[in-house]
Amino acid sequence: MENSRAQGLEALSDAFGDRFRRHTDGGGLGAASVLPSGSEEVQELARISRRHGLTLVAVGAGTAPDASAPGDSVLVRFDLMRGVHLPHDSEASWAEAEPGALWLQMDNELRLWGKGLAVYPTSAPRATVGGWLATDGLGVGSFEYGRIRENVLSASVVLADGTLREVVGEELGAFVWPQTGEGIVVGARLHTRRADTDVPFAATFAGPAAAGDLIGAVTEISGSSLALWHLAFLSPAMSSMQGLGEEYLLFGAYPGEREEVVVDLGPKIEANGGRLLEAARAYRAWGERFYPVAPSRTTPGISRDFVPLHELRRILDVRPGAAVQCTISRSGETLLLAMNTGDLATTH
Ligand SMILES: Cc1cc2nc3c(=O)[nH]c(=O)nc-3n(C[C@H](O)[C@H](O)[C@H](O)COP(=O)(O)OP(=O)(O)OC[C@H]3O[C@@H](n4cnc5c(N)ncnc54)[C@H](O)[C@@H]3O)c2cc1C
Repeated sequence: MENSRAQGLEALSDAFGDRFRRHTDGGGLGAASVLPSGSEEVQELARISRRHGLTLVAVGAGTAPDASAPGDSVLVRFDLMRGVHLPHDSEASWAEAEPGALWLQMDNELRLWGKGLAVYPTSAPRATVGGWLATDGLGVGSFEYGRIRENVLSASVVLADGTLREVVGEELGAFVWPQTGEGIVVGARLHTRRADTDVPFAATFAGPAAAGDLIGAVTEISGSSLALWHLAFLSPAMSSMQGLGEEYLLFGAYPGEREEVVVDLGPKIEANGGRLLEAARAYRAWGERFYPVAPSRTTPGISRDFVPLHELRRILDVRPGAAVQCTISRSGETLLLAMNTGDLATTH
């Protein structure tokens, strides 16, 4: 077995030349890493690895809480597969990306055409397309569009034997197993939307009943027909770190042409004890939506939990001082991200 592994590493070195690197220092993850330049090379990599009993582990930006790799695995890095392809037809509502493309890079390119991704993670400045498709989740836009995998029109996946499969997003879970490294996403066609009229809003909830009031507002909005695109909130500790105040902050965005939102949103917030903020503060909160992820600083550790809306209140009460960001889907599912504040203190 050891002999075959050594031969496998040799075969990878022959096939990939200076895009194959052994990790000789013993530190860090994996025994070696490879930089493929396209899906056919990933297929070749899978075939060689299977023949010699090598385990492949795809690597994105490492922002997922449980991203890890066994010491004897071969890491697949996508620095050479970051391409983004936008359709020429301005009416088309899709865009294609290779696995190493960054979500924010893709959204920024779409903005030039007045469009945007239907959903993207709040880790978008660093997280890769492959990494989020592998882990699934809720993100910016999930109030209207749900989980990312619901917005994958098709994805190309290289299986352990080197076969290339085209699947729809909902099938990704059957082909991609981040826990074992099986199934490597090599490209995807993602749902896009018009994004040139989006209007942000924000509201605060203060006082001893703030958490209950906030959840009341979120529950009422989720149960109504209010056509928001995005809805999320920050705990007081998280708001404070972003310089946005010391209270619970509810914020989101909607397409400006949905006039009924302008009329109905304020009363729903105020009826639940919240205070709608002026536009300048709403834009500020919106501008901070990626905090604390930035290309220039180390990303802190997080815990990531999917929580039903009716359970949120209990969880907030258990961790009153936690730095938490919560993303809401109209389906009643929420994603609670709790920041490791120790990491945050050292990343500023
Ligand atoms: C501050 C912060 C904010 C976050 N916000 C959100 C959010 O809004 N929504 C959310 O759902 N999550 C969020 N996350 C969690 C995390 O960012 C996402 O899961 C993320 O998109 C992972 O992407 P990555 O490129 O960092 O992947 P990595 O962490 O590098 O990898 C994640 C997993 O995917 C596998 N993988 C990577 N690339 C591929 C590929 N091409 N094919 C197959 N498997 C692959 C890896 O082996 C690993 O198991 C956040 C994390 C942080 C730290």
